[in-house]
Amino acid sequence: MSLNDSVRTLSEGCSMETLIKKHLHHVSVDEAVQLLDVDSQKGLDEFEIEARQKRFGPNTIPTQTGSGPLKRLLLQFHQPLVYILIAAGTITGLLQEWVDSGVIFGVVLVNALIGYLQESKAAKALEALANTVTTDATVVRAGKTRNVPSTELVPGDIVLLQSGDKVPADLRLIETRDLQIDESALTGESVPVEKHSQVYQPDTPLAERQNMAYSSTLVTYGQGRGVIFATGSHTEVGRISELISEADILQTPLTRKVTWFSQVLLVVILILAAITFGIGVLRGESAYVMFMAAVALAVGAIPEGLPAAVTITLAIGVARMARRRAIIRRLPAVETLGSTTIICSDKTGTLTENQMTVRAIWAGGEQYKVTGVGYAASGTIHVSGNESNHDLNVAARECLLAGLLCNDSRLVKKEARWEVQGDPTEGALLTSAAKAGLDNDELITGIPRIDVIPFESEYQYMATLHEMGTESPGRIYVKGAMEVILSKCTSALNASGECVPLPLEKIKHEFDQLATQGLRVLAFARGEIERGTPDTNRLSHANVSNLTFLGLQGMIDPPRAEAIAAVKACQTAGVRVKMITGDHALTAAAIAQQVGLDGMATQSDTPPKVVSGKELTKISDRDLINVAETSAVFARVTPEEKLRLVRALQAQKQIVAMTGDGVNDAPALKQADIGVAMGVGGTEVAKEAADMVLTDDNFASIEAAVEEGRGVFDNLTKFIVWTLPTNLGEGLVILAAVFLGVTLPILPVQILWINMTTAVLLGLMLAFEPKEEDIMQRPPRDPDTPLLTRDLIGRIFLVGTLLLVGAFGLFEWALLSGSSIEEARTIAVNVFVMVELFYLFNCRSLTRSMFQLGLLSNLWVVGGAAIMIVLQLLYTYAPSMNRLFHSTPIGWNWWGWILAVGITAYCVVGFEKWIRRRQTSLTSKEN
Ligand code: ATP
Repeated sequence: MSLNDSVRTLSEGCSMETLIKKHLHHVSVDEAVQLLDVDSQKGLDEFEIEARQKRFGPNTIPTQTGSGPLKRLLLQFHQPLVYILIAAGTITGLLQEWVDSGVIFGVVLVNALIGYLQESKAAKALEALANTVTTDATVVRAGKTRNVPSTELVPGDIVLLQSGDKVPADLRLIETRDLQIDESALTGESVPVEKHSQVYQPDTPLAERQNMAYSSTLVTYGQGRGVIFATGSHTEVGRISELISEADILQTPLTRKVTWFSQVLLVVILILAAITFGIGVLRGESAYVMFMAAVALAVGAIPEGLPAAVTITLAIGVARMARRRAIIRRLPAVETLGSTTIICSDKTGTLTENQMTVRAIWAGGEQYKVTGVGYAASGTIHVSGNESNHDLNVAARECLLAGLLCNDSRLVKKEARWEVQGDPTEGALLTSAAKAGLDNDELITGIPRIDVIPFESEYQYMATLHEMGTESPGRIYVKGAMEVILSKCTSALNASGECVPLPLEKIKHEFDQLATQGLRVLAFARGEIERGTPDTNRLSHANVSNLTFLGLQGMIDPPRAEAIAAVKACQTAGVRVKMITGDHALTAAAIAQQVGLDGMATQSDTPPKVVSGKELTKISDRDLINVAETSAVFARVTPEEKLRLVRALQAQKQIVAMTGDGVNDAPALKQADIGVAMGVGGTEVAKEAADMVLTDDNFASIEAAVEEGRGVFDNLTKFIVWTLPTNLGEGLVILAAVFLGVTLPILPVQILWINMTTAVLLGLMLAFEPKEEDIMQRPPRDPDTPLLTRDLIGRIFLVGTLLLVGAFGLFEWALLSGSSIEEARTIAVNVFVMVELFYLFNCRSLTRSMFQLGLLSNLWVVGGAAIMIVLQLLYTYAPSMNRLFHSTPIGWNWWGWILAVGITAYCVVGFEKWIRRRQTSLTSKEN
């Protein structure tokens, strides 16, 4: 097959795609790149990329929404309440009550449509949010390495993989270095698979094709390079995505509880309805009348809108969190956030700015000060205490050179501002080298890199191997955590460039001096390897040894101002903050003090107790429970220790939010009640494992999410406390009428009217209620406490009874004073709506009065109430509405009474809230 033919076949649909794919694991790398018409070193050129993008489309997998729109709409009818309504509508139709039957079916239809629209909107919003966390891929294009959004990849693109990446498309691997990939997303196999580039038999099963990397799988170790042969829906995961049943993204423990509650209530109410029907018929009432009463009871007493309202409130919460830069990946996290008791946060970039500037250098026994801020090279390096002396000793120069060469970052100028592309720690080292006049480009071409061991938190160092001329041995430059570097050094470079015995104590002393100022300190060293054999052309953890110590560079990374405020807010809210960092104990302690973590755990003003990773490994799991609880700062912590810490805190029944960014953080993120991944600096592996992703890596966003989580819970409770009395009141009114043997004060269609309109126009407006001022002054919510406390249940019964008395009372009074049955029923319906309307203002806060909140602080509620009043006027006076709902105009004097009932309900609930407030303030005073 010619090259063009084969590329053409790629675009000819899935069958040819599959054919080529089958062939790629058993063709050699050369054949594969030839088949895909690409230079394996330089990659595709811009022109070809554009052409292929047009040909193959974006590299996205069409999301499978489980069922089509029609099926989802039909599913809206698959609900017990709807069955009851359909049965009622049919029977009413058979009885030739066409209007009633029409209204009931109309309501069923409108209800289904509203449910469908709301559900789709919530699901779409959540999906869209999940997609805002985009994945970038590192590719080689036109000879240059660059990061591009993975959606823009095309077959033939050369992709570089490293640990933490998500494989962006299906790749034939060209070369690998200890590459391991977690393919559980595809094969279910949880142990990572080792990868290499050798050729396989054509009939090798998918899971055993170790020369392939498949889209959506995760690189857990090592590095690799591969060529893309399938993108988007042609990838393995794209092809099987239809088979993956979509997890119900709208379910949370709370929605499940609410659904369960509604179902139990449904059974109870159906039994009550059957009893009502039985009693009435036995008493000699007509079966038709009693059937209508039973239907009214069922329709009125079942809180049909509740599950949908809960989902929507949660979805609104998710959108609010997204606006505050916290993307929720799993909906249950919204609930858990409100109960969070401990936040375990990284330091670098989360509590600090991650804007690094080298401030001090210590090398060859001399101290240097570095001036200037940011990544611009404007600033000088001078001998400490002598600002005019800019002479660097040999060790200092080598130390700066090591920082420049053992470096994967770049500085770029954007609108007169220098920014770092890559790790800010490394960016700072490029700047310090530039301040000493070391020319980046010249040195990088003059001393080419042959190999690299990239930085991983697990090993805490990075090493590069360089070509120093054909005759000379290879030069290794290393940088990393001081303890790790010193353990690999056997000598040190002195000021004039000679190797001398390692002054261990002196180095540690200098390190402590810098670290206690809160500086992040890196150590630098160099070594040599004889070159020639293939082994010595590569770096391994074993051959990075026998090094010569060069010096230290200390950089500031100021705490984020907003993090300081957020830590304080958390403390007031009873949420404890702990710092878990890979950095040194002294640096960690200094920053902890600056952000205000001190005294946190011990409740005193003593500095925070710092526990090092080494100490942690020695503590037994049982003792760790206590240590984890009482210490505020954990330094030099490895990902495994993070996992132990989460478990220890959870053993104390704490609800733990834990941040992480690396591959190895994934288990701790999964174990935590809320795993928080960094959106900017985090690996794809960490993001996949997390419940929440921060788009700005900022601690303040976690605090904001906790605040929003509390707000969501508040609003949910408010909605439930508002909605249940209506159902209770309606049920009580019907039951009372049946048991007293009097005419029904409200008909099923009228109940449907009340429930439908008030739920949308009044109840839902509570989801927009701004958070209450004291929301971060309360302790976290105990997840074991029921949603409705005894007080709130009492309030629900109080309002239910008020509705019974008000509606039933005015109905009977109207009849007694000569009104028609239609008039009396219109009055009863208006009483229900009016009480709900006034009670809505009570429910804007569970404890405080509307006047304390500010009457206009939720304009949605005011707007909803205004529309509701207009609708009630139409309900009462518009002839068409009168025909549909059996309503009729009423005299204006009745409005006075209806209003009086509404105001009474408001005042009674207001009084009840006032008593509770007094009780709480008395108890807190006593305590
Ligand atoms: P945190 O866990 O709070 O983000 P951290 O960034 O210091 O803190 P790690 O990234 O695990 O945690 O780094 C641990 C140590 O490794 C650092 O204190 C530093 O000494 C060293 N280090 C960090 N980045 C690099 C790098 N790019 N190259 C070499 N060493 C590094």
